[in-house]
Amino acid sequence: MPTVSRSQIVARGLTHCCPNCGARSLFRAGTLFRVNRRCEACSFEFERDNDEGFYLGSLSLNYGVTLVGCLLPVLLLWWLKVIGDRTAIVLAVAGAILFPILFYRSSRSWWLMNYYLVFPHHLPANGGKGRGTEEKPTTRRR
Ligand SMILES: [Zn+2]
Repeated sequence: MPTVSRSQIVARGLTHCCPNCGARSLFRAGTLFRVNRRCEACSFEFERDNDEGFYLGSLSLNYGVTLVGCLLPVLLLWWLKVIGDRTAIVLAVAGAILFPILFYRSSRSWWLMNYYLVFPHHLPANGGKGRGTEEKPTTRRR
């Protein structure tokens, strides 16, 4: 039985906390958008040297949530004639710029949460070695 359960991973992800220990250390203190390389409490690596593309998924998540959570409602309100053309354009442009910025922290945290929700056994607290290390072939010495 894992030490960190999937419900704990979800709770920590939704609150931008370290998936491994639950400390509020995902983002650098005093900054809005800078992710720490490792957790200040448990040294768990948030950003690794060999997986630059990992957080591209958070961009896709951010794009999708912006589309469904912001632009689609504006489009529906315009289509149902609740708002006029000019209001719809202003809301869509403002939403397309502001929503991804406001959702940035959550998209990074949720993407990390998503990974450990699927692979909870990769968490060091659950006996794993971290993201992406479990599938790599080990180098054997002869
Ligand atoms: Zn931690």
